[in-house]
Amino acid sequence: MFVMDCLGVNEKNNLTIGGVDVAELAQEYQTPLYVMDEDKIRENCRCYTGAMKRYYDGNGLVLYASKAFSCLHICRIAAEEGLGLDVVSDGELYTAIKAGFPMDKVYFHGNNKTEDELTLALENNVGRIVVDNKFELSLLSGIAGRLGKEVAVSFRIKPGIDAHTHDFIMTGQIDSKFGVALETGEAEEIIVYASQLPNINVVGVHCHIGSQIFDIDPFLLAADKMTSLIADLKDRHGIVISELNLGGGYGIKYTSSDDPVPYDAYIKSVSEVVKKVCADRGVTLPKILMEPGRSIVAPAGITVYSVGAVKEIPDVRTYVSVDGGMADNPRYIMYESKYDALPVHDPAAKREKIVTIAGKCCESGDILIKDIAFPKIDAGDLIAVLATGAYNYSMSSNYNRIPKPPVVMISGGKSKLVVKRESYDDLIKNDI
Ligand SMILES: *Cc1c(COP(=O)(O)O)cnc(C)c1O
Repeated sequence: MFVMDCLGVNEKNNLTIGGVDVAELAQEYQTPLYVMDEDKIRENCRCYTGAMKRYYDGNGLVLYASKAFSCLHICRIAAEEGLGLDVVSDGELYTAIKAGFPMDKVYFHGNNKTEDELTLALENNVGRIVVDNKFELSLLSGIAGRLGKEVAVSFRIKPGIDAHTHDFIMTGQIDSKFGVALETGEAEEIIVYASQLPNINVVGVHCHIGSQIFDIDPFLLAADKMTSLIADLKDRHGIVISELNLGGGYGIKYTSSDDPVPYDAYIKSVSEVVKKVCADRGVTLPKILMEPGRSIVAPAGITVYSVGAVKEIPDVRTYVSVDGGMADNPRYIMYESKYDALPVHDPAAKREKIVTIAGKCCESGDILIKDIAFPKIDAGDLIAVLATGAYNYSMSSNYNRIPKPPVVMISGGKSKLVVKRESYDDLIKNDI
């Protein structure tokens, strides 16, 4: 009935998530409020770990891309579900350290890791550094030398694939700040160079071709090119690559017009490509890694808001303003991302009118959903914006000095607070 399958309707005709009444959650924790179904998150993790076991005989690892949503609790969930972790900054790494995440399963990404970040990573024995460029490689070799450590590295490769997605989130082509290019020979060159450096142990290659991708072909093409690179490195240079990381980017259902490929089917098709290239070229099947972020958490989360002013501009538009907006969900203003929303009471009511759901920030572009068919709605009503579990809390800001909403998780029909609401004092705590 709804775009998220962890939603329902109870006997009071209120929206539920993980079986819990959303109106009661709003009462208990106030709005705006992020709510996530932990059981759904775990189910999503198992969908990936199960598929990896089936199609790669257990020689694989799923990394949760923590930039989608990072906090102590989600790191603990990922660890309990047997996932590794992809981090892209010292802050995400610090969160993982504090959550007690097994460091050997942490992969450190990023196109401009600083000396301090690399030092923190090495001191904490992070499993892999995914090297982006030559500058970083020399920096890393130096730090590893000083610390007397050998560091296992993977390389971020641009396989040159157009993943048919929004320009902002397309990262696999040549004109990208991420990684080294395959077709120009840059990738091969840096790997050969690295294999001769002291303190550097070349282990893997990595690509990530974009985000919110529905098409399976770019993934198959990327798998083919990356596996061929592994074969080329062996044939031409005798370099053995034992890990192939195919990144994340699997699309999710934000609105009823989105139609994602079932992840299991995707993993199966990709595994067939990888196995075929390996067999044809006579290379040992590498350990396979994948890094879903959005698809693990987005379909498990909603944001609950209270409606304030409803402004009807005759013959123009009706603005329904809520008590949050771009500070807790900047994805419309950044990418014009589309979302669906429901009234918390009577969520299946007839959607009789086109409205625009706007935030409360001082920007005309502060919109959550433009032109959505919605049931009649008044000041004081609650609404839920759907599929906000990824890139909402993690991209939130204090713009207009708005405190960040709390995050509540639902498990076994019970709610628990996992991130507190920011207080006014939190807003000024670093001010001098
Ligand atoms: C963002 C990112 C991911 C996760 O992408 P999703 O679209 O959230 O699945 C994985 N790997 C890398 C390197 C990324 O930058």
